[in-house]
Amino acid sequence: MTSIIVKQTTIPILGAATASTFPVARIFCVGRNYREHAIEMGSDPDREPPFFFMKPADAAVNAGVIDAARDGHLVVPYPPQTANLHFEGELVVAIGKGGSNIAVKDADSHVFGYAVGCDLTRRDLQADAKKKGRPWDAGKAFEFSAPCSPIVAKAGDSGGIQIPGSSILSLEVNGVRQQETTLDKMIWNVPQTISYLSTLFRLKPGDLLMTGTPSGVGGLEIGDNVKVSCGDLPLCEFSIGPPDV
Ligand code: MN
Repeated sequence: MTSIIVKQTTIPILGAATASTFPVARIFCVGRNYREHAIEMGSDPDREPPFFFMKPADAAVNAGVIDAARDGHLVVPYPPQTANLHFEGELVVAIGKGGSNIAVKDADSHVFGYAVGCDLTRRDLQADAKKKGRPWDAGKAFEFSAPCSPIVAKAGDSGGIQIPGSSILSLEVNGVRQQETTLDKMIWNVPQTISYLSTLFRLKPGDLLMTGTPSGVGGLEIGDNVKVSCGDLPLCEFSIGPPDV
């Protein structure tokens, strides 16, 4: 019998002393965490508990420029079975310490660092699932559906990054800005989201949390170039390529 080798999904870490890659365990995503986006999706943004969906770990792909000399940014193949691939620019939180029932005041100590990413969505399949009361997996959890910048360790003894609420999260398609918000517009901020999520799942090192997208989501076509940025985090950049069939 031949052995089966499953490759660990990793995302590069910038500015960390101890490790150069972050092994991805699970990807949790928050739905409707910005008021204007909840409205554009036809929902009532009144404050109710956050809800979550997941992507498989291998949906995460490095969308940082690894080798600028080779212009090495990611090409995401246009996924099958959709005619409406949407971008959703999001702040990504990398969990470094596990736990359950984490108090809001303790949540920051579970954060390893931050990245910026894109929650790619087959909006037509998601809309059909919503209408039929079915799971969102086909709309959300496909290959390449979570392009992610390199992860930067949070501020600590050896440098790292701080992500103030005034940081601007923005997404551009072909150089035209489509989404822009400050992070303090989140309905559930990062510590609140970690706290709530940890009542449902025992978080573990390697988990990623995609924190929701602001308004302005829209469609992508083959050839489009996407750049997501947030404060001082490295860019998440990728292009949409032809289907990989
Ligand atoms: Mn999203």
